[in-house]
Amino acid sequence: MTQSIPRTMRAAVLRETGAGLQIEELRTPRPRAGEVLLKVSACGLCHSDLHVLGGAIAFPLPCVLGHEVAGEIVAMGPANEHSGLAVGQRVAGAFLMPCGQCPACAAGRDDLCGPFFDLNRLKGQLYDGSTRLADLSGAPVAMYSMGGLAEYCVVPSTAATPVPESIDPVAGAILGCAAMTAYGAVRRGADLRHGETVAVVATGGVGSNIIQIARAFGARQVIAIDVADDKLAAARELGATDVVNSATADVREAVLALTGGRGVDVAFEALGRPQTWTSALEALRDGGRMIPIGLGAGVQAAAVEINRTVRRSQSIIGSYGARTRQDLPEVVRMAAEGSIRYADIVTRRLPLEQVAAGYALLRNGEIQGRAVVDLSL
Ligand SMILES: [Zn+2]
Ligand SMILES: [Zn+2]
Repeated sequence: MTQSIPRTMRAAVLRETGAGLQIEELRTPRPRAGEVLLKVSACGLCHSDLHVLGGAIAFPLPCVLGHEVAGEIVAMGPANEHSGLAVGQRVAGAFLMPCGQCPACAAGRDDLCGPFFDLNRLKGQLYDGSTRLADLSGAPVAMYSMGGLAEYCVVPSTAATPVPESIDPVAGAILGCAAMTAYGAVRRGADLRHGETVAVVATGGVGSNIIQIARAFGARQVIAIDVADDKLAAARELGATDVVNSATADVREAVLALTGGRGVDVAFEALGRPQTWTSALEALRDGGRMIPIGLGAGVQAAAVEINRTVRRSQSIIGSYGARTRQDLPEVVRMAAEGSIRYADIVTRRLPLEQVAAGYALLRNGEIQGRAVVDLSL
């Protein structure tokens, strides 16, 4: 062990939905079989957290959120001989933590891991059916993914990938959700082909990554669609060939004008709102694929025009995360070689104490790209 691990740590704890996050002292967690303990260097603030904070997505309380982290391994549980991980290594942690044992994981479909949904997403636990987090009285505290908004967190080794020294230890936090989800959408959901045309509706953390990854996969045209001109200007910087402000322009007319009257081959939707679904479907060509990625607020429906979808043979292919064990290393590789400019997407670095203010900015649409909590601040 290279450094001593304190008995307690600071964490952002949600005790009541709507009441916001409070910084509390918790017991420092310990890793069990097949798990590692990270000293967190940074954790990203993701739009999907807002649904838990506001109560639209039910989750056990109290809990620690934070599901895209970067950090250093400071301790390892047993049964990690084949993990390829070691104490002292810097890693990125993926929000989608595959159990590695279920039929979906055995088939390589980490994105469909049953225990991840049943134990972590519904109960806030890891795969032995308990959480690693507890307050100072010993009362359990649920973990949303690894519970990364804290000084330390436990991650199953299946969800941690080594990152080279060249990766920024703070901005690198966004690799495990924003970048990996974007990669999954482009590579797995859309199976994007060289020369295809793309629209990206909502250019926040995930959308900004989709723009870059789609270009890296050879998209010939990438149309960014958002409601804020500053976000669209940033999208252009990241590789969007065209932009449409859906607050001031008709999306269908604008996209048809930009694509010679055809519409795009693939439309990604990255916010999970009924109106962004509509924009994505309006951008689509006949036979096109619409890839929704954004999580809705609980049980929410979007309008899909039945006859247009049927007669135009359009597909709607949901995409959640990615195949962590295969795809996160690839995302790290693309970030290290510069084809994902992850550091340019991180526009704000906040200390843990300001995490609630960070989410308030995110809720108000005031974060361009991604904000991260930097544990060194
Ligand atoms: Zn996320
Ligand atoms: Zn599994």
